[in-house]
Amino acid sequence: MNPFPPRFLFSAALLLLAAPVGAAPLRIATDIPVTASIARQVTGDLAQVELLLDRAADPHDFQLRPSQVRALENADLLVWMGPELTGWLDRAAAQRGEEAQLALLDVAGVELRALTDDDSPAAEREGVEAHTDDHDNGHDHDHDHDHDHDHGSQDPHGWLNPENGRLWFATLADQLARLDPQNGEAYRRNAVAAQARLDATETEIRSLLASQEIGPFVTFHDAYGNFTAAFGLPDAIAITLGDASAPSAARLSEVRDRIAASGASCAFSETNQPARMIETVIDGTGLKLGPPLSPAGLDLPDDAALYNQMLLQLGQHIAACHDGED
Ligand SMILES: [Zn+2]
Repeated sequence: MNPFPPRFLFSAALLLLAAPVGAAPLRIATDIPVTASIARQVTGDLAQVELLLDRAADPHDFQLRPSQVRALENADLLVWMGPELTGWLDRAAAQRGEEAQLALLDVAGVELRALTDDDSPAAEREGVEAHTDDHDNGHDHDHDHDHDHDHGSQDPHGWLNPENGRLWFATLADQLARLDPQNGEAYRRNAVAAQARLDATETEIRSLLASQEIGPFVTFHDAYGNFTAAFGLPDAIAITLGDASAPSAARLSEVRDRIAASGASCAFSETNQPARMIETVIDGTGLKLGPPLSPAGLDLPDDAALYNQMLLQLGQHIAACHDGED
């Protein structure tokens, strides 16, 4: 038997052609698992993609360790959602050149839904005052942002609308092509393939959701407006606000009233959050508790497929909880 069949030689030649000549691969730092997945789908093997957020952490509230600060400094490009979601990168992003960072939520053409509680004073505050921070001295205003964005009442979980994901694949490919022109065509081809995969995922989710009668459902934090709008579902009822900060007693009681009036039949806790709060709120309501949702993909393997897997899993959990409803 020939130990080197022609196909093997052909593949080896292609690998040699694909390897960047004389240039180190780009290093890309990313904020949350979804962003890392988007970057990996566009770069393939042509760049090193690093995820900054710890798996057990809250995407809205994180502090970089010194080793992560160094990794970020050494990165050619920072891809992050933006100050509305991952404000812990705001300062680092501001220090980078325009082509050395990409804030996905700020890309022209991105569609964001208003937060579900848009008209509440608390929702007005969100995005200006990112969150209270219990790592330090207890002041609520330590993380005010100086940037002049005005996204205060928009839901920053924009990746839950696949339309935004498709736009970001193309935007990122264009930026990578400017940073690494030699591989520009490859990035653009990868982006087109990623868009097609996301189309297929979206179709699969639509058919899953169409198989059940899905009413409003209850969630841990106000993160699902972009998903429910994209997939034609009623707004979810969130127990905590868009930044996942702890709800007041008054809000909890208001939420219980809304649940009672809504005809909701399902509630979901969230990865990395205690289920106890959801359990307390739905106690005595007859709502079914579904599995924890993970809108940032924190419970999935950190690889290129994570974004699509996360969306699909969201659709599966929501459909399964409503299975058998009238
Ligand atoms: Zn969130």
